[in-house]
Amino acid sequence: MINVSKIKKGLVLDHIEHGKGKMLYQALHLDEVEDPVVLMQGISSTTMGKKDLIKIETDLELDYTVLGLIAPHVTVNFIKDGQRARKMRLELPEVVEGVLKCHNPRCITGVEHVHKHKFYLVDPETATYICEYCDAKTRYE
Ligand SMILES: [Zn+2]
Repeated sequence: MINVSKIKKGLVLDHIEHGKGKMLYQALHLDEVEDPVVLMQGISSTTMGKKDLIKIETDLELDYTVLGLIAPHVTVNFIKDGQRARKMRLELPEVVEGVLKCHNPRCITGVEHVHKHKFYLVDPETATYICEYCDAKTRYE
């Protein structure tokens, strides 16, 4: 087990499914964060086999919709004064605004720009959502 020095403040995203860490890093635009961000991949986990982990040494307002979509079982640890102040487990969001795209070529959203286009979760197993306008199924890609 590699030991990375504890961070004093910020966020630790734990229990990221192995391989999703890099995807999260890009989707959450962590490359644009000026404070230290550490992405660790393939860490041994007793419950998951291997997992990824991200440490962000700053108080960052994350996009929890994107986070929940990509890594529904992630644990978000909020670190304050070197201690874990709070811990939150995410789940797949029931409703997603924006983020997703409707792939139905006949959908109104293909011709008209819809602000806060909503999608509703229909199958948590496969993380499938339906478009609020045409009911077409979609997933985060
Ligand atoms: Zn649609």
